[in-house]
Amino acid sequence: MFDRVQEKLAQNRKAPARHKAEDDYLLTTKLFCGYCGAYLCGESGKSRNGTIHHYYKCVSVKKKRTDCKKKPVRKQWLEDLVVNEVMKVVMDDKAIEAIVSMVMDLQDRENTSLPLYEQQLREAETGIQNLLNAI
Ligand SMILES: [Zn+2]
Repeated sequence: MFDRVQEKLAQNRKAPARHKAEDDYLLTTKLFCGYCGAYLCGESGKSRNGTIHHYYKCVSVKKKRTDCKKKPVRKQWLEDLVVNEVMKVVMDDKAIEAIVSMVMDLQDRENTSLPLYEQQLREAETGIQNLLNAI
């Protein structure tokens, strides 16, 4: 059981959702095409000289659902723009306070499984101790 708990803890540490793609497209599910209203999703492509470029592309264009005319947008340019605009809004004491309290809330919620693992660990240690005593 101890090993299983350790395994589980290690798994959680490298949660699969954290780095699902090679690159993190920060704005996935937050961008919508101005022409057709579909999501923009991350895509990368290699140029002739081998450099990899990253874009956000309209899903309709990607899946050829409609003939949307949205051109792919460079990832870095768009993310910088959005981050800079967000920072302008966020950089005041009241907003920061609100964000901090939300993050603290979230952290409390994410830790709900920790007491369970600690309990399991204690039980495993007691079991090991009992075995040793018996031996
Ligand atoms: Zn579109």
